[in-house]
Amino acid sequence: MVSDELIEEIRAQADILQIIGEHVTLRRSGRTYRGPCPLHGGEGPNFSVYPERGLFKCFVCSEGGDVFSFPMKLLGLDFIEAVKFVAERCGISVPDADEARREEDPFRDIREAVAFAADWYQRQLWEEKQGEAARRYLIGGRGLSEEAIKRFGFGLAPDGWRGLREAAAQLEISDDVLTRAGLIRSSERAKEPYDLFRNRLMIPIYNLRSRPIGFGGRTLSDADDAPKYINSPDTPIFHKGRIVYGLDWSRHAIRRKEVVLVVEGFMDLVSLMAAGVENVIAPLGTSLTEHQARLLSRYAKKALLLYDSDKPAWSPPSRRLTSCCGRVCTPALQPCRPAKIPIRSCARVGQRRWRNTRTPPSMCWIARSRFCSGAATWTAAKASGAPSMDCC
Ligand SMILES: [Zn+2]
Repeated sequence: MVSDELIEEIRAQADILQIIGEHVTLRRSGRTYRGPCPLHGGEGPNFSVYPERGLFKCFVCSEGGDVFSFPMKLLGLDFIEAVKFVAERCGISVPDADEARREEDPFRDIREAVAFAADWYQRQLWEEKQGEAARRYLIGGRGLSEEAIKRFGFGLAPDGWRGLREAAAQLEISDDVLTRAGLIRSSERAKEPYDLFRNRLMIPIYNLRSRPIGFGGRTLSDADDAPKYINSPDTPIFHKGRIVYGLDWSRHAIRRKEVVLVVEGFMDLVSLMAAGVENVIAPLGTSLTEHQARLLSRYAKKALLLYDSDKPAWSPPSRRLTSCCGRVCTPALQPCRPAKIPIRSCARVGQRRWRNTRTPPSMCWIARSRFCSGAATWTAAKASGAPSMDCC
């Protein structure tokens, strides 16, 4: 935690004109400075900064506050993040509570093993010949740029039984740690433990501090018997029911827009984010748990489901989300994507509309949803034919 004294010291040191001036061109007008409001995207000089009082105020959207609330409102930071943001700009260092606690972290070896694996999988994808097929799938098949693939930390688990285990052994990472990290497993039939993920595209799952804690693995095999996706098992640092994929990237956008888009899978999320739609998450597995819904409600007032309505998995998870969010979020909105439109074209439409209208796509989608103003329930939505709603 940051002490109150330190917060006041940062406030005293901070130059609110400089911090706001990074985002707006301000002109002096008597004792105040004026410019267009960056919070509502105004054009006239309705946004005032009062350096003596350390405050700002917009006379159009009525947003106002101090040097900490400005980055909170503009960038969607929480208070502590905003304190750090301001502290950085006035050369004050804020002790990182994590660092102090690190020595006591009982699962440090597991975290390090997962971080090692994430790095090793990435190297297999980019540096090894066997990574070619996976790169082709991502770039050619999924239309992702190299930059996007790197941003999401994708890697490759090669088609072999013990590649990761052998690489880890060279760094003296023990079988015990790898097992507890959910990276290898033993069976009676195998003489030695073997890699859990084999011949899979590896998708690291990060916690809110952007550290890898587990993986999703998408098969690269054509065989029908291989499950399409497998996730890391629950470990001391990875609890599937408690985290959602993508929140470390999307939470600021979600907070800004007050809407979270919930998609079914990793690749849906990646396609949307690569297309510039940032306020999106994917639950791990088919249904959103109550814990996950509550987590999302800290960031969003509304959840908008973008599920393939032709899939059998469609009904139960959305009903679940509705019932969860009914309690913790204001109404969960219903699917707004007609069946059988791939999420990629949905993303493209969203992006185009965004460019044309300067309105974020989620807002477009919601504005076009019949449920935008009412308290939608699953039954009501279904009765009015929600799955074929024309929103994208
Ligand atoms: Zn404003």
